[in-house]
Amino acid sequence: MQIVSILGIRFYAFDSTEEFKNEITKFFVGDKCISIFTPNAEMIARATEDENFRGILMRSEINLPDGVGVLLLSKKMGFNIKRFPGIEAMLEILTLAETLKVPVYFLGAKKEVVESMVDRLKLRYPNLVIAGYRDGYFKEEEEDSIIEEVNNSGAGILFVALGFPKQEIFIDRYKNRLNVKIAMGVGGSFDVLSGKKKRAPEIIRKLNLEWLYRILQDPKRILNRVPNLIKFIKFYFKYEYYEKNN
Ligand code: UDP
Repeated sequence: MQIVSILGIRFYAFDSTEEFKNEITKFFVGDKCISIFTPNAEMIARATEDENFRGILMRSEINLPDGVGVLLLSKKMGFNIKRFPGIEAMLEILTLAETLKVPVYFLGAKKEVVESMVDRLKLRYPNLVIAGYRDGYFKEEEEDSIIEEVNNSGAGILFVALGFPKQEIFIDRYKNRLNVKIAMGVGGSFDVLSGKKKRAPEIIRKLNLEWLYRILQDPKRILNRVPNLIKFIKFYFKYEYYEKNN
């Protein structure tokens, strides 16, 4: 495993899924809740100008290099690391959870999406203990009761799909109050696992063009993303300057 630091945010680049699973298993028996995030180019762009968000990513125990932007930056810094998509990490954790009988809780996405994902996961992981689930459209005043519900469910792992930056802010805010051992932000993964959205075909993934496929599936996304992507490109070309001054 290599550790690459970008803006003080440590990325764990695992050499294999086996190595990832071994590392994760250690946390199942830990005495605190750790977070797993998958910062992409947009999240790094935000971290360059939002100290609070940067702090959240810096405090996270595990950040995985999901996006191609992180790979390009790492390459510039002299590291040759592999992509580890968040959805694949989530599936590996589910396999572990099923084998080790660690109950899981799913928080996020639309009600019908999380429900159909749970139905599908029951078929894919027949022995998985699903402690509970709920959609991701709630008010701030409901958050206390959600944390209580997750804690009362007996879950050991919590997957949060509220999109960025909501899921990272949520996990960081409640990490100390959660009884789970692992809380992971998984973006749009519930949409994919419910069957609502498709992942890119293998060949496109191998070419590191999954981001382009996602944009083509939902062209409106590009409008929201362009400003952050431009910031990331600027950061890419000036990263030495940023690193020195931050
Ligand atoms: N989402 C949610 N609550 C919100 C906003 C988003 O549960 O208040 C869910 C949304 O339904 C989707 C997931 O978060 O399942 C990811 O959303 P989006 O595609 O906007 O985020 P990204 O993939 O860009 O992180």
